[in-house]
Amino acid sequence: MADTNAECNIKVLCRFRPLNQSEIIRGDKFIPIFQGEDTVIFGGKPYVFDQVFPTNTTQEQVYDTCAKQIVKDVLGGYNGTIFAYGQTSSGKTHTMEGNLHDPQAMGIIPRIAQDIFEHIFAMDENLEFHIKVSYFEIYMEKIRDLLDVTKNNLSVHEDKYRVPYVKGCTERFVTSPEEVMDVIDEGKANRHVAVTNMNEHSSRSHSIFLISIKQENVETEQKLSGKLYLVDLAGSEKVSKTGAEGAVLDEAKNINKSLSALGNVISALAEGTKSHVPYRDSKMTRILQDSLGGNCRTTMFICCSPSSYNDTETKSTLMFGQRAK
Ligand code: ADP
Ligand code: MG
Repeated sequence: MADTNAECNIKVLCRFRPLNQSEIIRGDKFIPIFQGEDTVIFGGKPYVFDQVFPTNTTQEQVYDTCAKQIVKDVLGGYNGTIFAYGQTSSGKTHTMEGNLHDPQAMGIIPRIAQDIFEHIFAMDENLEFHIKVSYFEIYMEKIRDLLDVTKNNLSVHEDKYRVPYVKGCTERFVTSPEEVMDVIDEGKANRHVAVTNMNEHSSRSHSIFLISIKQENVETEQKLSGKLYLVDLAGSEKVSKTGAEGAVLDEAKNINKSLSALGNVISALAEGTKSHVPYRDSKMTRILQDSLGGNCRTTMFICCSPSSYNDTETKSTLMFGQRAK
């Protein structure tokens, strides 16, 4: 791990959550067998990743092994993206956010917020920092600003350097980790108000938190900027082909399409050849275009349930992760 050489900038990490209460009560079996740091045997088949986190891994261990270096790189002027992929209830939000206000249970985003400001306070006094965050979601290819509910269908534009961005999306300047947490709380509260069933909704939309860092050396006037996208993806579960119809089926097709667009982009990047990278196939991959692959730091968390009840979904999640290798 922690090797950030230019050819190997897509990391795929696999995390298994523990069995939950209802799985234990139902008597589900615990399927994964963990081998070494990078392998999990699931249903008799080995899957190898850059790192595998067994069920007892703490939030701090996850952060230290994978996200800490990305913060340094973004402060050094690189762009990056961290995703969480997996079926609903596999631990995506736990990994990305966790409990924002509990130091032990905090996930990656709040730890990044703390770490950024710690680094900045320790840096050269001549450096001036401007940090801003945005928070939006993509549902059925529609982009909705979570910091301004009146903006519910934003579009993707390109700036003068042909870098895609979400036009008109709210940007908040932040000067402390607490302010970052407040923005997340605000966005989550807006999301709750706008939908009737939050759990269902969050499993069907991608939520994206963007941190942009600009720095300028006031003596030399040298400028540096980096940005980091933190993406909690829609649940990857398949909707039963016979049961679903109408709106539910449309939703499911749409999620499938945008997740496979992401998979296609990541696997084209992982192949590392000059092959065509199909960024334009979804809004999400367009937005992330300059923060994926190439010189960027990309990390994908493959979140899995250990239960026999979910084994078909877990296999398909593990396969998705393998495509990126
Ligand atoms: P998702 O966002 O993928 O739908 P969640 O992150 O909400 O799933 O996780 C579902 C439940 O499982 C939550 O109650 C969460 O706290 C718990 N959970 C997830 N991952 C872990 C873990 N690694 N350790 C302990 N509890 C977890
Ligand atoms: Mg979630």
